[in-house]
Amino acid sequence: MNNILELVNVSKSYPAPDGVEPEMVLDSVSFSVMPGELIAVVGPSGSGKTTLLNIIGLLDEPTAGRVLFNGEDIFQFNDERQSRYRRDNIGIVFQEHNLLKQCTARENVLLGVLASGKIADVDRKRADELLAAVGLERYADYFPGQMSGGQCQRVALARAFMNTPSVILADEPTGSLDSKNAQMVIGLLCQLSSSHGTAIILVTHDMDIAGEMQRRIELKR
Ligand code: ADP
Ligand code: MG
Repeated sequence: MNNILELVNVSKSYPAPDGVEPEMVLDSVSFSVMPGELIAVVGPSGSGKTTLLNIIGLLDEPTAGRVLFNGEDIFQFNDERQSRYRRDNIGIVFQEHNLLKQCTARENVLLGVLASGKIADVDRKRADELLAAVGLERYADYFPGQMSGGQCQRVALARAFMNTPSVILADEPTGSLDSKNAQMVIGLLCQLSSSHGTAIILVTHDMDIAGEMQRRIELKR
């Protein structure tokens, strides 16, 4: 089986103020991701975990190195292909659920579809199936303000899977949840990953959660 994602010597430093030596945030990071693989990214605060996810999600670019998706360098894509890569292949889950509070749970799950055109019945059906998969079938018409933090994060999971991405980038998705809700969100993430064949790259501080992934990548300062 071929990898879907490959990082080759990815380095990143941010421009520093005059007279300050730029700090190397990522120094020649290389690894590959197989379809459906569950990967934990761990490391101290400031070690570049978010920067790494941002680079894979095309929200930031490396200073050196390449990121290959199915063998092709995503930073060589033209704008249109970059948008398509982001929309069709990458799902993102943040620490905060980032739901739009004026939209219902179902509408939040459908946001990515809305961005690319009209919503069809088949999309609504899929959104409802995903809400059911995260145990929220009753909450499709609820607004974020009417749901708990754990429930909102489960809506965010459903949203991330809506476009059947090949990779989900999750940046401390349980960081603002208690351990019971954190466990539930991770369980659902793994379940959705296995039923959709989606690879997960999960940043976490929690070693128990990291231990539930198949592989661990550790960033050092
Ligand atoms: P982590 O997620 O592991 O806590 P980050 O990737 O957020 O780490 O940050 C790694 C380092 O990069 C930190 O030292 C941070 O100050 C620096 N950094 C992150 N984003 C920027 C930016 N936009 N400009 C300058 N420095 C940044
Ligand atoms: Mg971070």
